[in-house]
Amino acid sequence: MTAEFLRPDPIAHADSAAGNPAPPEGAPAPSGASAPGPQDFGFRIEARLAGATGTGADNAPRQGRAGIISTPHGTIQTPAFIPVATKATVKAVRPEQMTEVGAQALLANAYHLHLQPGPDVLDAAGGLGTFMNWPGPTFTDSGGFQVMSLGSGFKKVITMDSSRVADDDAVAPDKERLARVDDDGVYFTSHIDGSTHRFTPEVSMRVQHQIGADIMFAFDELTTLFNTRGYQEESLERTRLWAQRCLAAHRELTSERSHRPYQALFGVLQGAQYEDLRRKAARDLGAMEVDGQRFDGFGIGGALEKENLGIIVGWVSEELPEDRPRHLLGISEPEDFFTAIENGADTFDCVSPSRVARNGRVYTPDGYFNIPQARFKRDFGPIDPDCTCYTCSNYSLAYLHHLYKAKEMLFSTLCTIHNEHYTVGLVDDIRDSILQDRFDEFRRDTLGRYRTGGRAASH
Ligand SMILES: [Zn+2]
Repeated sequence: MTAEFLRPDPIAHADSAAGNPAPPEGAPAPSGASAPGPQDFGFRIEARLAGATGTGADNAPRQGRAGIISTPHGTIQTPAFIPVATKATVKAVRPEQMTEVGAQALLANAYHLHLQPGPDVLDAAGGLGTFMNWPGPTFTDSGGFQVMSLGSGFKKVITMDSSRVADDDAVAPDKERLARVDDDGVYFTSHIDGSTHRFTPEVSMRVQHQIGADIMFAFDELTTLFNTRGYQEESLERTRLWAQRCLAAHRELTSERSHRPYQALFGVLQGAQYEDLRRKAARDLGAMEVDGQRFDGFGIGGALEKENLGIIVGWVSEELPEDRPRHLLGISEPEDFFTAIENGADTFDCVSPSRVARNGRVYTPDGYFNIPQARFKRDFGPIDPDCTCYTCSNYSLAYLHHLYKAKEMLFSTLCTIHNEHYTVGLVDDIRDSILQDRFDEFRRDTLGRYRTGGRAASH
C-alpha cells in the first residue's frame, strides 16, 4: 500500500501555506499519528447572500452562502456540483478529464460497489480514490436510496407528484417489490443476480468505511410522495433511530480503522413535503450526538416536488447548525441550483449531466438540445461557441452527430465532458456571484437566457 494521504490545513489557516501538508503545531509526526478524527474535516463560510429580498422561503432571511469544505484529500469550494461516478467511474470519462472540466470531488454509489466488486476489494486497494485513480475528495451515498428505489421499482425517480394516490405499498407498474423494510434494516434483492442482501445502519457504515470515501451518508429510509402521512411519521422515527446507530457504528469504525484518513459522516434528512417533519428531522439530526460523535454535515434527501424545492431546503437550513455543510441529493437543472443555493444548500450531485449526454442531449447557456437532430448533420460549429471545454474547443456538431449515428463510443466521452463542464461551471459561477454580491442579477440573466435562448428555443 503506497497511498499517501495528506492532512488538510487546519481551518483557521486555510488561506495560508497552500500545498504544505504539515500537521498543526505541536501535533505528533504523521508516523506517530494522532488518531484520525472529526478535526480532519471542516467547513468555513466565506460569504453569505445578502438578506431578505422576499424570494427566500416565507420571506425569511436567505440562507445561501459560499464556503470551503476541507477533507483529507483536499478542499471543495462551495457551492459545488459533485459529478457522479456510480461504479467508481464517471461513465466514458477518464479522471484526468474530470479534473479538466473542473470537478472538485466525485460521488460513488455504495449500493453498486457493495454488490460489485465488493467493499473488501476497494479496502484492499487503499480506498475509493486510490482504486479509481482520483486524487481529490470523494463521496459515497449510503446505499439506502438504491436499496429502496430499486426495490420499489421506481429506479432513479425521486421527484414525484404528491397529488397521486397515497399508497404505502406502491411499486412501479409491472415491477416486483425487491426491498422490504423493517425496524432493524432492509432486505433487498440484487438487481444483478437476484441474490438476497441485508442492509442495516451498521452494515452500511462498514461498507462505506471499507469503500473509504471522504464523505459518507447515514443509512436512511427513502419514502415516496405516495406514502401516507402516517407512514412518513413512522419512517422518520425509524430514520432517526438508524441515524443514532450510524453515529455509534461510525465512531467505532473510525477508531478501529485509525490507519485510514478520517471519513466524515453526513446525516440524511427525510420528511417528504411536510414542514413539521422536515424541521423535526433537521433539529433531531442537527443536535444528535453519540459519545461525542456528531454528524459532520447533512444530506437533504427523499422525495421533493420541484415547486417545493426551495421551501423545503429553506426549512431545514433554518433549523440546521450553520457551521456544517448541507448536501442536496439529485438535482441538476439550472433553476434548481439557484433555488437550492439561495435557500442554503452547499453541494449537489446528480447523474443527469452524464446520463443525458450519452443519449445525445447537451446543455448550453441557451438551453439544451439533442445532437441526433438532423439539423446538425452539416453544422460545423461547436456545441457552444463560448464554451472552453475540450469538446467545444476541438469538435463540431456535425462530427458529434456523425459519432452518434455511427454508435461510436467517443460520442459518450465528448458529450459527457461538455455537460459536466457546463454543470460544474454553472455552480462555480453561482459561487462567484455570491462572493461578488451579484447573485440575483446573475440568476436573472442566466435563467432568462436559458429559458429563451436562441438555438435551443426553436426545438
Ligand atoms: Zn463544451
